[in-house]
Amino acid sequence: GPSAAGLYGPTDQIVILQADNVRALILNASSAWLVEFYASWCGHCQRFAPLWKELAMDIREWKPAINLAAINCADITNRFTCANFEVDGYPTLKFFPAYSPPDSVGEPVKAAKRVQSLRQTIITLLEKHGESWPPACPPLEPISQAELGSFFETNSVEYLALVFEKNSSFIGREVTLDLLQFENIAVRRVQDTEEALVSQLAVTDFPSCYLYYPNGTHTRLSVQIENRWFYTYALQNLPGVVRGGYKNVGISGVDNATISEAWQEFDRSRIYMADLESSVSYALRVEVGTHRVLTRKQLSALKSYVSVLVKYFPGRPIMMNFLQVLNSWLKSYTESELPYSTLEKEMENGFNVPNLALPPTIKWVACQGSRTHFRGYPCSVWTLFHLLTVQALQNEKASSRDADPQEVLKAMLGYIKNFFGCRECASHFESMATESMSSVRSLEQSVLWLWQRHNHVNSRLAGAPSEDPKFPKIQFPPPDVCLACHSELNGEHTWKTDKVLQFLKERFSADRILNDYLE
Ligand code: FAD
Repeated sequence: GPSAAGLYGPTDQIVILQADNVRALILNASSAWLVEFYASWCGHCQRFAPLWKELAMDIREWKPAINLAAINCADITNRFTCANFEVDGYPTLKFFPAYSPPDSVGEPVKAAKRVQSLRQTIITLLEKHGESWPPACPPLEPISQAELGSFFETNSVEYLALVFEKNSSFIGREVTLDLLQFENIAVRRVQDTEEALVSQLAVTDFPSCYLYYPNGTHTRLSVQIENRWFYTYALQNLPGVVRGGYKNVGISGVDNATISEAWQEFDRSRIYMADLESSVSYALRVEVGTHRVLTRKQLSALKSYVSVLVKYFPGRPIMMNFLQVLNSWLKSYTESELPYSTLEKEMENGFNVPNLALPPTIKWVACQGSRTHFRGYPCSVWTLFHLLTVQALQNEKASSRDADPQEVLKAMLGYIKNFFGCRECASHFESMATESMSSVRSLEQSVLWLWQRHNHVNSRLAGAPSEDPKFPKIQFPPPDVCLACHSELNGEHTWKTDKVLQFLKERFSADRILNDYLE
């Protein structure tokens, strides 16, 4: 498409504007917009793009109140549009408050160098809305004792979270916006100078967060680090707090009919062989089987997939024997195309080897969904490939000097590109791979690359219809799973990648896989 040459793509949280949609989207809108006017050839813009993407990811929950967008002024179709908005240099940031009149050209905003300062600028701009306050934007001003007294008379929520903080702190407002799409909770800030409230709740630390209940009682929110990220994570995961979109999902009786099997209990901290083997079975039987004839590219992708499994998959002997024979059969198959019926016949006959068969059942354990249309196969694909990157890291052959550290990732990309049924997922994954997979130079980086890309996908899908309410899309691993993985730098959340790597190595180690629920 016309945006292909631009600096942003469909995997970013940035709305890509074009001459034909810009006015309809940003003028007289119910949310505010912050737009980057850029030229794809401009070096400053290229250097600024990663920050813009990071900001968009950081404030993704704020979308109903403020959208982040970009328009490529170097795209010939957008030339007059950029001129009409009085843009004469790149990059230019412009703010459009909610309900901007049709002749607005936007308010110029300084392009700061850090996500934090841009985020704070956005809050300050949102606060300037007067009468035309964006309807989805919660109140951002501090709460007073008088207001608190009557709060639950006008708000039917289970929790009011109070963030006590110094006047100069933005944490309270950031958390308020982070929770705006969540129901059953409201968040307000309280300034340290609001003495009546500070003494009423006996608050001594700034920042600190308290939960205030309709019956007038309160408790302190317990977090490991007193900052935005930990508050947001803890509040989003309180019992009864749900993302607004959930109310559309699965409440009617219709959906209940799709719960086909009884729920199997499982340990969320473990990996199950049933999921891994089912993933392989499903791939070979269903996904590969939807192609009548495998083309040269598909055949080569299938060969890499099977060869990587043979090398690194710690499957049960019954599965590994089958894969080994399949692998040699594929290697000796030298035609450029392969009719699936030929492969299917061979697999059914166990390649004429006695007792050789692909384990037939497909059963999801840690990948079960609370409804049949949730989770299952895609969950198992992630799980399988995380496992394979970790197994390669722990494998001597893969760590030899001339081995390719991207071997597993390339096999995954080939599989996803050629066979993964969700075509939109495939193209997203492909663009992420094009963007950064070439930077992977070691097996450690390959584990971390996949972890990071998966988190990127999680952040994009949070709140999407495919999200299982019982398994919210969170940044993984959360603090209650790996506290040491989290840290703070200049007040911002950061990952301790060495600790994440250690965590992933343990989670995906062969001797931690459980064989429960297998025949
Ligand atoms: P999943 O995201 O499938 O994760 C499975 C399990 O892995 C989680 O339960 C958790 O235990 C663990 N986990 C979570 N994050 C990480 C991490 N960062 N590192 C290690 N382990 C982790 N769906 C779309 O709607 N749009 C898309 O564009 C899209 N793209 C996809 C691309 C690929 C390559 C794949 C495999 C799937 C894609 N999907 C997409 C599907 C989506 O990502 C989920 O797999 C699906 O919604 C099921 O979600 P889930 O709750 O089972 O968790």
